[in-house]
Amino acid sequence: MTGSSPAVRRLSDWDHDKLLTLADEYGTPLYVLDENRVRANYRRFTKAFPDAHVMYAAKTHTGRAVLSTLLDAGADIECAARGELQRAIDAGADPNTVQYTAVNPPDIDLSYAADLGTDNPGLTITAGAQDTFDRLAERGYNGRVAIRVNPGIGTGHHEKVATGKDAKFGIPADRVPEVAAAVAEQFDLVGVHAHVGSGVLHDDLDDHCRAIESIAAIARDVEAETGPLEFVDIGGGFGVPYREETEPLEMDTVSERVRAAVGDIDATLKLEPGRYIVADAELILTRVNTRKETESATVIGVDASLATLIRPAMFDAYHPIRNVSAPDRGDESVSVGGPCCTSADVFCTDRPVSQPERTDVLAVGNAGAYGYELANQFHSQPRPAEVAIDGDDHRVVRRRETLADVTKLEQ
Ligand SMILES: *Cc1c(COP(=O)(O)O)cnc(C)c1O
Repeated sequence: MTGSSPAVRRLSDWDHDKLLTLADEYGTPLYVLDENRVRANYRRFTKAFPDAHVMYAAKTHTGRAVLSTLLDAGADIECAARGELQRAIDAGADPNTVQYTAVNPPDIDLSYAADLGTDNPGLTITAGAQDTFDRLAERGYNGRVAIRVNPGIGTGHHEKVATGKDAKFGIPADRVPEVAAAVAEQFDLVGVHAHVGSGVLHDDLDDHCRAIESIAAIARDVEAETGPLEFVDIGGGFGVPYREETEPLEMDTVSERVRAAVGDIDATLKLEPGRYIVADAELILTRVNTRKETESATVIGVDASLATLIRPAMFDAYHPIRNVSAPDRGDESVSVGGPCCTSADVFCTDRPVSQPERTDVLAVGNAGAYGYELANQFHSQPRPAEVAIDGDDHRVVRRRETLADVTKLEQ
């Protein structure tokens, strides 16, 4: 066990009275972020990798409260879009410490990153296609770059996140040395990078480590071709338990296995966790508005939907659900769904939940990673407010959208 904070946080660990007060005060659906948990997750992670360089992957949750909390804790930030770069800098990141990962970057993004990197020579740009390097050179950029490689092995909780074997991401392993030679002529080649999957837990760790072995082998090939690298970046992907019965990763073990997979190399190990840092630091509060018993199911209607949290619809993701108003009423098997007119708008089917009644508040857990970040306005639904709690204090960090916000760009 590393650090003093528990490696997993379940819905039952949250202060239910506080959650009910927040639901009453700010309405539902409501995102509730625990900044202390963000800090604790970051600390536990960095403690397991003491001599590595850890960057938070901003796209997981780009909220100002999350970025500021992590910057204060000493994290650097990895960004994959112009908006993320801008928001990281606005939150206080020194552009010289930022890494920008360019995946089919639009011109406006690439120009922004190239200019930023020219003014701030510490910035690093990672690219996974020769075209991207050519477009950087066209923009007069000749600074720090890393080559994103494709190790041919993807891992993680869903095929839609197994980027390591998807041709979209990275330079194929066998082409890397030749690309590296050309890149080193034009730029300051400082690293090899890959991000191969997401939500990696116990069963996936073997595959993940094989991918890391492959990345490290590619890095050694590059070093043989162009000289020593500053870093080998193995991306993020470390999972958290979404199901109550799943055990958390034991980070000391993970760290040992990662180190063994990387093997002998002088370059600094870099990691870019996203999900691990924020997933269990946030939940969604939603209120029951409908209870309907049918032959086939007891259907519980709530005010959150796939517009609030799209992961169940998009990745078949499991999110824990708890009746915060009445956790001990006795479990019954229910389906919980929102107001959207699609069968995909369900948070669970046939799931035991303490009998939900109309007006009860349910919590949907592990919503911090790819939660608010993927929230949308489907069905003209204003996006929810977000409240951050920090010990006994709390504050609104993002106000609830109004219908006027939904329509304000229409001409
Ligand atoms: C999404 C992403 C991450 C973070 O992945 P997690 O699975 O959330 O840890 C890290 N690096 C890159 C390049 C990414 O695209």
